[in-house]
Amino acid sequence: MNIHEPATSLKGVGPKKAEALKKLNIDTLEDLIFFFPRDYQDRRNRVNICDLKEETASVIKAKVQLIVKDRYKQGRKQILRLLISDDTGSLEVVFFNAKYLQNSFQKGNEYMFYGRPVLNFGKLQLIHPDFSKEGSRGEGILPVYPLTKGVTQREMRSWQHLTKELWGEAEDFLSPGIVESNRLCSLEYALENIHFPEEKQKLLEAKYRLIFDEFLVLQTGLFAARQNIKKGGRGIALSKDVDVKPYVDSLPYPLTGAQQRCVNEIVKDLESDIMMNRLIQGDVGSGKTAVAEIAMYKAAKCGYQAVMMAPTEILAKQHFEGFCKGFGNHSIKVGFLSGSMKASARRQVLQGLAGGQIDILVGTHAVIQQDVEYKNLGLVITDEQHRFGVNQRVRLKEKGHDPNVLVMTATPIPRTLAVILYGDLDISVIDELPPGRQQIITRDIRGKDRNKCYKLIERELEKGRQGYVVAPLIEDSELLDAKSAEQLAQELKERFGRYSVVLIHGAMKQSEKDDIMEKFYNHEIDLLVATVVIEVGINVPNATVMVVENAERFGLAQLHQLRGRVGRGKYQSYCMLITENESEIALERAEIMASSSDGFFIAEEDLKLRGPGEVFGTRQHGLPDLKISDLAKHMKVLNVAKDQAKKILQEDPKLEAAENQPLRRRVVKLFGEDFQLNL
Ligand code: ADP
Ligand code: MG
Repeated sequence: MNIHEPATSLKGVGPKKAEALKKLNIDTLEDLIFFFPRDYQDRRNRVNICDLKEETASVIKAKVQLIVKDRYKQGRKQILRLLISDDTGSLEVVFFNAKYLQNSFQKGNEYMFYGRPVLNFGKLQLIHPDFSKEGSRGEGILPVYPLTKGVTQREMRSWQHLTKELWGEAEDFLSPGIVESNRLCSLEYALENIHFPEEKQKLLEAKYRLIFDEFLVLQTGLFAARQNIKKGGRGIALSKDVDVKPYVDSLPYPLTGAQQRCVNEIVKDLESDIMMNRLIQGDVGSGKTAVAEIAMYKAAKCGYQAVMMAPTEILAKQHFEGFCKGFGNHSIKVGFLSGSMKASARRQVLQGLAGGQIDILVGTHAVIQQDVEYKNLGLVITDEQHRFGVNQRVRLKEKGHDPNVLVMTATPIPRTLAVILYGDLDISVIDELPPGRQQIITRDIRGKDRNKCYKLIERELEKGRQGYVVAPLIEDSELLDAKSAEQLAQELKERFGRYSVVLIHGAMKQSEKDDIMEKFYNHEIDLLVATVVIEVGINVPNATVMVVENAERFGLAQLHQLRGRVGRGKYQSYCMLITENESEIALERAEIMASSSDGFFIAEEDLKLRGPGEVFGTRQHGLPDLKISDLAKHMKVLNVAKDQAKKILQEDPKLEAAENQPLRRRVVKLFGEDFQLNL
């Protein structure tokens, strides 16, 4: 066996299993070895049956006294019941639909059972426990792998066992010097103990090593990406003589206190000759755009260009329209750039930028394309920055000579994490919504009461309003999503025959999506059925209903973002969260959503309910996916790895040394081929 062979070279892995493994990103045996458990079951401490507690996972050793096979569902399915006992008591074990297990047990034999007992009619029961013959593998600390349909825990464990001999072959990208100076264990030891730890201490050593590895790769990539962004670097100082007051006065509303504070901080940054590197955090609807406009006004009036990059075409277009209105009266020329523009129109914009006739540019990531040249870029802004990858942000900045940088987001990020993502940056928070915002009525609805939602939609459409229905998410497959959403869209089309109901889903081409969003914006569509989280930041004030199917599948922060798509105009708006789930956590979540409209509070509560790993998922911040490390949990290791990454890059800034090639490959693997450019 060789580590680069495909997974199918393992016993028991045929084409079907290989297909399932692919979903877990496992193609080769190496991928398998680097596929780590998400948890462990400690089966070393056995308890007596009389000491079992409800809902507490435990191991027992017991003898099978009785085996009963029942049929149910018109005889098509079998239920297997065992009565087991030890010296202290007896217990029922149940397996549903368990034909395949029917010969697994023999009366009178002893087995180990591992499971979480539940109470049934006042008696404890084990339902589908793990089991093994006494003395076989199945004792000790067992790994629990994240799985997908078509792969069982048993199979995964056995495959991991089969590849044991390859642990020593895995490429170690750390030099012996680094391993030693950081007091890390060997890679082979780490692999052995991450999969099958003998004891907790060894598992911890293994974890530390693997987390260190992953963070080192991450940090090396991030540093490489922003090698020239240094805290305190000299930047462009804008003239103190240019006041932003004329622009502020021309806004149709007074700034909120929080906006004003934020503007002051930005203006101070802009006027200093130290490069601005600032993050604006502000809840959905808190008015970040106006703050950005003021900054751009200042840059333009000081003779510099400013550019704002938005994640979607429709959002960029909305900004463009707003800017044209806002800046028109101040004789500032605004340009727009996107991927779908005609060549001639695009050429004109490029000329305007290079020649300096355009003062402010807004667009999609088209604004960072190679042939886009600016005359004198003084300020770069990313809107909804969590939607952009590291590369894109860096490339935007490199369009100018040390321009001032402003990034805006509605996702609250803890300070520590922000530092990793953006380097040493300053943060401004807009923690106040403009006055007079109406409360969005939020309701938690059971699936069977779906009709209530439909009645509401009908009422609103009749009044001339618009609405969104976010369709259920199924697994991770966009194709599956599209299918179930299509069904839902079909039903809604029938139900709301008089109105224009249109589906938008993730598998569509971008141009198609843009087209639909545009139509919705122009009220040519009444009801939008969407699988994708509806384009961030989009502003359709006429939309008043947001229905979210399978709301339990979304994080609270995400639900809050979705809800933020309505209630943007003068009309009373509604958010209906449909769940099938009545668990305590689901109810608690619904309660939080219904009782609060404060994004920061909601994010905090989300953190409490789901833990940092879920909430600050790397996806949300444009970071690559991490396998084993958790930015929020493993801060200490992160800092150690950070220092090491710095050291490596100080000696070899472009990772050109022969000994750094394995590291370089890992960085490119983590960040994607595109990343070569930054090295
Ligand atoms: P976000 O922070 O989500 O990007 P926007 O900048 O899109 O929010 O602002 C949301 C809405 O609030 C816009 O319609 C904007 O005109 C309005 N707005 C912004 N600031 C104020 C203010 N100080 N007073 C009243 N309305 C405001
Ligand atoms: Mg915005």
